[in-house]
Amino acid sequence: MIILYTILILVLIGAVMGLLLAVANKFLLVEEDKRKEEVLKMMPGANCGSCGYPGCSGLVDAIIEGKVTKVTTCSVIKKENAGKIKEYLDATPGADGTFLKVDI
Ligand code: SF4
Repeated sequence: MIILYTILILVLIGAVMGLLLAVANKFLLVEEDKRKEEVLKMMPGANCGSCGYPGCSGLVDAIIEGKVTKVTTCSVIKKENAGKIKEYLDATPGADGTFLKVDI
């Protein structure tokens, strides 16, 4: 009988924890700016740090947050890719509908 109660309690604990995780996922979800992923694909990916940020994703974060306005803050990016990033950001609004102003 004790084994049955133990199994029942473990199932109940699992169900309550699952429910709590589902509720937390619904209410605490932080949506990331979808532009970040696309811009990151166009970066060199060397993660050299010479831009002053901890890797390419750090610089992309700064660009998306509007802290950096020059794509060529990355010293190793090709002009062609910098132009593509500028075109992409000029044409793609963020979740709030605003556009970023960046230079090459
Ligand atoms: S300088 Fe360019 S390649 Fe190097 S970490 Fe910064 S963004 Fe990445």
